[in-house]
Amino acid sequence: MPPQGSPFVLLVPRSTRAVAAPIAVTLVFACVAGACAPANGGPGGPGGSVGSVGSAGAGTSLGWSDTLTGGPEKLDVATTVAPISSIARNIGGDRIRLRGLIPDGTNSHTFEPAPADAQTLASADLIVVNGLHLEQPTVELAAASKRPETPIRQLADETITKDHWLFDFSFPASAGDPNPHLWMDVQYATRYAELLRDWFSQADPPNAATYVANFTAYKNRLDQLDAMIRKGVASVPEGDRKLLTYHDSWAYWAREYGFTVIGAVQASDFSDPSPQEVARLIQQIRTEHVPAVFGSEVFPSPVLEQIARESGATFVDKLRDDEPPGPIGSAGHTYLGMMKSDMQVIVDALGGDPSIFDPLDPTDTFAR
Ligand SMILES: [Zn+2]
Repeated sequence: MPPQGSPFVLLVPRSTRAVAAPIAVTLVFACVAGACAPANGGPGGPGGSVGSVGSAGAGTSLGWSDTLTGGPEKLDVATTVAPISSIARNIGGDRIRLRGLIPDGTNSHTFEPAPADAQTLASADLIVVNGLHLEQPTVELAAASKRPETPIRQLADETITKDHWLFDFSFPASAGDPNPHLWMDVQYATRYAELLRDWFSQADPPNAATYVANFTAYKNRLDQLDAMIRKGVASVPEGDRKLLTYHDSWAYWAREYGFTVIGAVQASDFSDPSPQEVARLIQQIRTEHVPAVFGSEVFPSPVLEQIARESGATFVDKLRDDEPPGPIGSAGHTYLGMMKSDMQVIVDALGGDPSIFDPLDPTDTFAR
C-alpha cells in the first residue's frame, strides 16, 4: 500500500497524548528494495550486551529464510515483515519452516511480491501477515496461490479493534488505511506472540506443548523489554519526549509509552519539500527545543538531515522499524535486537540513560 496523498501534508498530532503544535511537513517516499545496510557493525545494537546468555547460543539465529516444502515433517509458515517473522521464529522455534516474504529492510508499504512467491504461498500450511491493510498485494497473491485449507491470519486485525486504530499524515483517516505499525508497541507484539502460539498449536497439535513453552520463554523477555522501555522513557526529561522521524512508524509506541510524535519526514516520490515548509519545520524544532531528529540508515533522508542541521538538533540516523540490526542469521538480528537498538538510540539522544537496556539479551529464546 503506497503512502497516500500529496507529497506535502500538514502534520496533526496523532497521539492521544499529543501536545505539540501541529506543524511540519511530510514528504512521502518510496524507498528501494534492498537499500538496507546492516548497521552497528553487528548484532545487538550499539552499546548492548550481545547474545552472551541466550539459549540460542552460537551467535546465530535460525532466521526466516527457510524454503517451504509443504512436506509433512514440519509446519510450513509464510510471514511478511521481519519483526513478525522474528516473533514467529521465537514461538515456532525449530519445529517450523519459516519464510518471511518481504526482504529485511524493504519498504513494506510498497512491496509487491514476485511471481515466484506464489510457490512459497502454495507450500504454506499457515500464512501470517500484519494486516491493517499493510500487505495488500501479498494477501491478494496468497489468496490466489494458497491451498484451499491454508488460513491467512492477520495479526493486527486480531489485536486491536477499530476504536484503537491510529491515523496520521502518512495514514490519513480520509484514505481509510490505519497506521499498521503495531509491533513497535511491545504490548501489541506480545499479543502477536500469543496469537501465533494459538495458531501454530491449532495447525500442529503434536507440537502444541512446545509452542506454549516457547511463548512463555519469549513473553518473559518481552516483559523485560517493556519494563526497560518504561524505565528508559522515564529517564528522558519529560519535555524532551518528542519524536521527529523518517517514517510514521512510532504512533502506537508513542501512545503506549508516553511520547509525542511531532512529525515524520518521509522522503518519498523523490521530491523535496518547499523551502517554506522546511523553514517551518526548522522553526518548530527550535520553538519546541527538540534535541534530536531521528533518521534511518535503511531509508536515508537528506532533507531530514538538513532540517536537523539547520535547526540545531542532533541528527541520529540509526532508527529502524522493520529491519533488525546486524547480518541476517546473526544472534541479534531479531525483533528484540531491533527494539533494543532503537531504544538505546532514542533514550541516549534525548538525554536519558541508555544503559538501562544493556542487560537485555536480544537473541532468540526458544529451546533447541
Ligand atoms: Zn512502515
